[in-house]
Formats: sequence, structure tokens, C-alpha cells
Amino acid sequence: MSPQTEAHVGVAPNGEPRRLETAEDRWGRMPVIVTGDDYLRSVRDRGTTLYLFGERIEEPADHPIIQPSINALKATYDLAIDEPELATAYSPIIDARVNRFLHVAESPQDLMDKHAMQRRLGQLTGTCFQRCTGLDTISVLHSATYDVDAKYGTAYHQRYLRFLAEAQRHNILIAVGMTDPKGDRGKPPHQQADPDLFLHVSGRNEHGVFLRGAKAHMTGGWNQHWICVVPTMNLGEADKDYAVVGIVPADAEGITFVYGRQASDTRAMEPGTIDKGNAKFGGQEVLVHFDDVFVPWEHVMLDGETEFAQLLVSRFTAYHRASYVCKTGLGDVLTGAAAEIVDMNGVPGAAHIRDKLVEMVHLNETIYSSSIASAARATQLDSGIWMNDEMLSNVCKHNVTRFPFEIARLAQDLAGGIVATMPSEADLRSEEVGPLLERMLAGREDVPTEDRMRIVRLIENLTLGRNAVGYLTESLHGAGSPQGQRIQIWRGMDVELKKVLARKLAGIEDGG
Ligand code: SF4
Repeated sequence: MSPQTEAHVGVAPNGEPRRLETAEDRWGRMPVIVTGDDYLRSVRDRGTTLYLFGERIEEPADHPIIQPSINALKATYDLAIDEPELATAYSPIIDARVNRFLHVAESPQDLMDKHAMQRRLGQLTGTCFQRCTGLDTISVLHSATYDVDAKYGTAYHQRYLRFLAEAQRHNILIAVGMTDPKGDRGKPPHQQADPDLFLHVSGRNEHGVFLRGAKAHMTGGWNQHWICVVPTMNLGEADKDYAVVGIVPADAEGITFVYGRQASDTRAMEPGTIDKGNAKFGGQEVLVHFDDVFVPWEHVMLDGETEFAQLLVSRFTAYHRASYVCKTGLGDVLTGAAAEIVDMNGVPGAAHIRDKLVEMVHLNETIYSSSIASAARATQLDSGIWMNDEMLSNVCKHNVTRFPFEIARLAQDLAGGIVATMPSEADLRSEEVGPLLERMLAGREDVPTEDRMRIVRLIENLTLGRNAVGYLTESLHGAGSPQGQRIQIWRGMDVELKKVLARKLAGIEDGG
């Protein structure tokens, strides 16, 4: 990014000086990104504050644990160049084709194309590529800002459209902070012993607002250009200061990132590529602390309209729970790895093995079908954009909380116990025991032992290693834990209608 321009300096509520940078100033020094390499340059030298293993990391872009998550986002730029029909779309907002991750859906077909792109990126990266939360949030904000303006005569929607136009022109990344730390789960935000356990507005002036608190489990975050904070749940009148949607640069003053650990993450710091399982791609989750971070009014998209907090959450889940179709791309990779290992082991044709592979595909395609169905049954909102069918989107995400675990179990079943016991790459390279391992870890005689080891490590990586975070735990808890979908399914399932149908066929008199 170019050097910082003049900006008004004010005093934050905590007494510290803060640059009160306008939206115009910030966009003026944001890069215009075209290629994946442009993106790599854009996240360097930003002077951010990020901690990992208790130490501040001077240049996170160079850290081997962080690089795989950067590579996954880079893949979203590369795909737009390699497969533009799939990963770009025409945006009437700037009258140009834009990355599909910055395009709000103008038809059910747009949603289906988005889901096809998400599956493809899952296939290419084998991990969470961290860009869908941003797309799903800008999609929600299109309709929510429109609806708030219609009710209160505010001017949020025009602000939003100006932000989106710049975002599309610059082709930038937006991370989303939704989950607050929450403290005592039995109390609303204003009753917490520590008011910062939910992110809130800590001060306002004529230039904008200040944000204080934290967002947890953020998908991506450090490796993106902007962070959009949104409320995490229903809010009452007493929680007005918590009903805030603001978009801040990831390198804004007052932001501290604490990097989340992932299983086997330190393997990224070892030499070699075999033990990493997927040496190139990984996800990123961070805890982000906001210490009176300034947001100019141009980037405040909600301030105090508590009744819209629930609407934001429910529309976000309608989009994002269908976005979990991304896991079918990982399911394709894992099914391929399972088929590969049985082939390498010399038993591809056995009936029980074929049956297990069929089961893996059946489960994976069931997830895909619910996602595509939710897009095909989308509804148009007052602002003009389209939103996935809520019931089918929740069914998609609920499938995702279960089926990847069964697919992972079948993959481990087919791979054998070696998934959890295989010696390291260093042993394979050792002059003493390497030749022994070459012989003892061999499968079919025409398959190099190293290739077999690589496939085993990939299965380990996806089912109990670093990318199991993305394939399993994130499938369970991302976009809401299973109970969240069950509540939405209960609300939408119209059990009374189903009872009437049953009573009628059973010959019960008031059956309709
Ligand atoms: Fe996208 Fe899937 Fe990651 Fe969510 S979990 S950001 S839908 S890749």
C-alpha cells in the first residue's frame, strides 16, 4: 500500500490519539488487485499487530504457519483469471466484471454459480478459503441497509453501495467479525461484568464512531484487507451501542490479532513437504481485539437499530449455511484420496471398498444437492437481490455438521491404521532407516513408497490434522452449531400443516 496521507487526528475514548481517516483517504491508498501475486504484495508491510505463540510477529506474511492461509485466498484470485466464467460475474454497480466473491446475487442462477465456484475452490485447496463470509455479509447488507432506510429514512444503503463499488474496483477481501466472546451466556451484552465481551460503540464524534471489544473465531481476518463487524444475536433497547455494523481496514490503529492454533500446525515449520499432508493450503482463524478503533461514518452501516440485529443474523445464516457447500470440494478430495490409497494398496476392485466409496459420494452429493436446491428456490428481497431458501440452506448446513464426519471415518477405514502411525518424512530421508521404510511401507510394487506416504498424510491432514479444522470442526460449528440449524428448521417446518395431512388420511374428522 502507498504511504499514509494526511488525516485528521483526534482522541479516542481511551485517551489515545487516533488518525480519523476518511473513507476517501483510505480508498486512495488501497491497492487495485488483479492477480494472486498482487494480493500477496498487498498484505505485506502493513505494520499490523499479530501475536502467535506469545510473540509479536514482525511480518506475518512470511510466517510458515500463516502462509498456507494466504495461499488459500490467493487461489480465489487465481481462479478468477483461470476460470473467469466460474469465478467472475458482471456487476452493474461498476459496469464491469468483478470477482464473484464481490458480486451480490441478482438471480437464483447467480447463487448456483457461487456454489459451483465454492465447490471448485474446495477441490483446489482442500481447506477453508476464507472468502465466503465476506460475500455473504455484503449480500446481507445490500438488503438490510435498504430495509433500515425504508423504515427510518436513514441513508445507509447509499453508503453501502459506495463501499461496494470501491470494493469491486479495488478487488479487495472482506473478513467478517460476527461471534463475540459472549462472557456469561445467561446475560445480555449490557449486563456483562466486562462490557467489552460484546463489541460495541465506545464513542461517537462528527467524523465517525469508535469500536471496542473483540470478535472471536474470525475466519481469515489478518490476511484480508477489511473487517466488517456485525452483531452476533438478537439485541434489546438496552443494547443499542452493541447494534453496530462497521467496516474497518485490517491494519487500522487499535486492532490486535491473536492467531488461533490448529492441529499439527507446527509441522508447517518443519523441513520437507510430506508430513504437512497439504503443504500449500490451510485456513486461518483469529481472535481480533478492538481498542477504540475508529470507523468513519461512511463505513458505518448500522448504528443503534437494535431490531435489525436479528434480521442481519438470520439473513446471514440463510446465505452462509448454503455456502458450506464448500465442504463438498473437500469431500471430493478426500474421496479421491481414499480411492487412491486402496488403488496403491492393490485392492481397488473389492466389493466392500467400492461400496464405501459409493457411500462417501452419496453423502457428499446429498450436501451439494441441498445447497443447490436452496439457491434454485431463492427469493427476491425488496432491495432487488436474491437470498437462498432458509429451510433448505439450514438443511444443507445441518448435513454438513454430520456427513463429513462419516466421510472422514470411511476414508480412515479405507486407509488403515497407518494414518495414525506412519513414521515421518525425516525417517524416510534418513540414511539409516530410510531404505528400510522404502521397503516396509511399500504397497503395489509399481507405486513409489513416497507417493503412498503422501496420500496417507493427506488423509491424516483432512481427518485429524491441520485441515480437519476446516473439514470437521468448522463443519460442526462454523455458521452456527447444529442446534442453531435445528431451531431454524423447527421454526420453518410448519408441523401443524403436516399434522393436518396425517389426520385427514387417517380419517380423523377435523382433518381438513
Ligand atoms: Fe467459505 Fe466454507 Fe470457509 Fe465458510 S467454511 S469461508 S463457506 S470455505
